[in-house]
Amino acid sequence: MKIGIVGDGLTGLLLAWELRKASCEVTLIGDGSLRIASVESAGILTPLANKKNDILADYEPLLDTALDIYQDISAFFGQELIRPVPIIKQGAYPGTSPYFEEQSGAAVTPFWKLTGPFMNILRAWQVNTGMIRLLRRHFEAAGLYSRRTVIWEQQQVRRLLADYDYIFCCEGAAVRKNPLFAHMPFTRNKGDVMQVRIPGLPGDAVYDLAYKLVPVGADGLFWLGSSNIWRYEEVLPAAAFRKDVEEYLSRTLKLPYEILRHTSVERPTIAGQQAVAVSHPEHASIRIINGLGARGYLKAPALVREALAAIL
Ligand SMILES: Cc1cc2nc3c(=O)[nH]c(=O)nc-3n(C[C@H](O)[C@H](O)[C@H](O)COP(=O)(O)OP(=O)(O)OC[C@H]3O[C@@H](n4cnc5c(N)ncnc54)[C@H](O)[C@@H]3O)c2cc1C
Repeated sequence: MKIGIVGDGLTGLLLAWELRKASCEVTLIGDGSLRIASVESAGILTPLANKKNDILADYEPLLDTALDIYQDISAFFGQELIRPVPIIKQGAYPGTSPYFEEQSGAAVTPFWKLTGPFMNILRAWQVNTGMIRLLRRHFEAAGLYSRRTVIWEQQQVRRLLADYDYIFCCEGAAVRKNPLFAHMPFTRNKGDVMQVRIPGLPGDAVYDLAYKLVPVGADGLFWLGSSNIWRYEEVLPAAAFRKDVEEYLSRTLKLPYEILRHTSVERPTIAGQQAVAVSHPEHASIRIINGLGARGYLKAPALVREALAAIL
């Protein structure tokens, strides 16, 4: 079976990975962009549904599929692309649960001017978002990656329909340029993120404080984010976000810090926060996987498997 995938972010790459395993002939078409959700993401798989510490009802099955696929990719490349990571949060341990444990202040107060109680969120994982570049290079080396932008004109659609048995649209937030799915209620959402260096802050946990700080390498390098903005004109880093972060870190951190990078990126969102893996209402061979929002690294593996089951 010949499959064309438009979109070279997490969704398109995982789909290509799984289709290849199912012996399908795959072409991945993507613009190679790096300023996308999949690259700027924190890559955290967390059971928390919200700030009130509710647990996602479907976390365990989503996590099972995610571990299956990410560990398979890790084994193939011989790299640890996913690791378990505790998430340290301010707040009282909410009672017996496999997802929480009490955390003594000793892991926090040497570094932060914060008072307890603190707790650890358990069964959380961190995916290395460097996987995006790795998978793109892998498919490029295999001659399966066509680096270009698909302009959705009628002639282009006809050509894709003639060339492939199925076409998967995995375009993330850029799907709004695709007239084939203009009927879907896509929404706009952006997040500001930073890379900060905090020498001396241990990199063995995520700090879920006013902002999330996710360790992304040696030397006290952290991903810091993010805002969640629904009304905006342009996707540009917001000066107000930087000011708030600086104010917070200066007030609460006992260690010096340096902001190395500040950027802004859109999340792929659909009204009702529902991720979808469905076919086009008229062209059954054109399918879409989108709307992964703020949980793409958790949800994409299960959605990709669902998409596979629909066509194989
Ligand atoms: C700040 C931030 C933090 C996040 N943190 C987490 C987290 O901790 N945990 C978690 O689970 N999720 C997180 N997410 C969500 C997750 O990153 C996204 O849901 C997921 O990466 C979306 O992947 P995607 O492949 O659908 O879209 P994208 O990453 O947008 O990729 C789509 C790709 O397709 C390309 N493309 C689009 N149109 C075309 C075209 N016509 N022709 C060619 N190429 C095209 C784009 O340029 C892009 O490269 C976060 C997101 C953001 C923004």
